[in-house]
Amino acid sequence: MIDTIKILSGLPDELKTLVLQEQSLKQRTTLQIGGPAALLCEVQNTEHAQRFQEIAFKNNLPFFVLGGGSNILASDEGFPGLVMHVATRDFIPRGNTLVVGAGLDFDEVISRSLASGLSGLEFASGIPGTLGGAIMGNAGCYGHEIGEFMLEAITLAPDGTIKRRGPEGFGFRYRATSLRESGEILLQATLQLSSGGIEAAQAIREEKIADRHSKHPHNLPSAGSWFRNLPPSAPGQRRTAAGALLEKAGSKTMHEGDARVFEGHANMIVNTGQASSRQVQKLARRMKDAVWDKFQVKLVQEVRHLGPPA
Ligand SMILES: Cc1cc2nc3c(=O)[nH]c(=O)nc-3n(C[C@H](O)[C@H](O)[C@H](O)COP(=O)(O)OP(=O)(O)OC[C@H]3O[C@@H](n4cnc5c(N)ncnc54)[C@H](O)[C@@H]3O)c2cc1C
Repeated sequence: MIDTIKILSGLPDELKTLVLQEQSLKQRTTLQIGGPAALLCEVQNTEHAQRFQEIAFKNNLPFFVLGGGSNILASDEGFPGLVMHVATRDFIPRGNTLVVGAGLDFDEVISRSLASGLSGLEFASGIPGTLGGAIMGNAGCYGHEIGEFMLEAITLAPDGTIKRRGPEGFGFRYRATSLRESGEILLQATLQLSSGGIEAAQAIREEKIADRHSKHPHNLPSAGSWFRNLPPSAPGQRRTAAGALLEKAGSKTMHEGDARVFEGHANMIVNTGQASSRQVQKLARRMKDAVWDKFQVKLVQEVRHLGPPA
C-alpha cells in the first residue's frame, strides 16, 4: 500500500489538482479492462513531468507512462503506484514542420495537419492513441512508420534531465524504440511533413479509415494486434503476419469468458463484456501455444502490461 496522503500533502496546490486517486484503468485503456491506479497524474508540461517523475522515484513508487492506452493490458488488480498520463497538447505548424505535444491524439494530429496544408501522415489515419505512444512504439501500417517523419523531440530522461533528441537518438525499429526501453518520456515532437498534396492525402486518409473499419473491431474494445508480425525470412522481404499463422492454428474460435479472438482478425483480442485481464492472458497463452504446436514458431507479444501479470 502506498501512503497517498503523505505524498499528496507534500505537493503544492497547482500539482495536487493534476492528481487523481484510485483512477480506474478500465476507463483509460481501449480494451476497457483494469483495476484502479493508486495515483494518476496529468502532465501538461515539462515541469509537471519532472516533478511527478521525481515524486515517483523519491517515494520508490512503481511508475508507468500512459498515453491513450490503446496498446495496453491493465491488470485486474490495478497499479499500486504512479501512472503519468502525458497530456501535452501543443500543435504548432512551422513551414513544412509540425511541433506537437506527445499527448495529442494521433489521428487528431493527422486531421489537423491536413487542415493546415501539411501531408505525409495520412497512411496512419485511424490508429488509436496519442502521438507519444505512436512515436515511442514506432507505430506503422501500410508500409510506413511514424519514425520516418521524426525531426526532433523533447524528452525527459530517467535522471530528471530534459533532452533534445534527433531521430538517431530514438533507435527506431519494428514497433519499438530504444528510448522507450530505457524509460525516457516523450513530451513534444517535431515532425517533417510536406506542403500541399492535400486532396490526394485526404483521399488516402478516407481509404485507410474505411479499410480499418472493415477489418478491425471498431465497436468492440480491443488493444490492436496482440502479437508482433514475424521477422522477414530474407533481407528485403516482407514480414509474415502473425494473424496468418494464428488463423491457420484455429485461433478465431478461441475464447476465455468474455475475452475472444475477433472473428475478423485472428491476431486481435476483443472484450465482449466483462473480460478480466486474467482471461485475456489465458487466451493469449492459448493462441501462442497453438501457433507453437502447429508451426514451432514463438510469437512475441506486442501489447504491454500495466500492473503485475497474472
Ligand atoms: C483497433 C486498433 C488498431 C490498431 N492499429 C495499429 C496499427 O495499425 N499500427 C500500430 O503500430 N499500432 C496499432 N494499434 C496499437 C496502438 O494504437 C498503437 O501502438 C499506439 O501508437 C499506442 O499509442 P498510445 O498512446 O495508446 O500508447 P499506450 O497504449 O498508452 O502506451 C503504449 C506504450 O508506449 C508508452 N508510452 C505512451 N506514451 C508515451 C510517452 N509520451 N512517453 C514515453 N512512453 C510512452 C507506454 O509506457 C507503453 O509502453 C492499434 C490499436 C487498436 C486498438
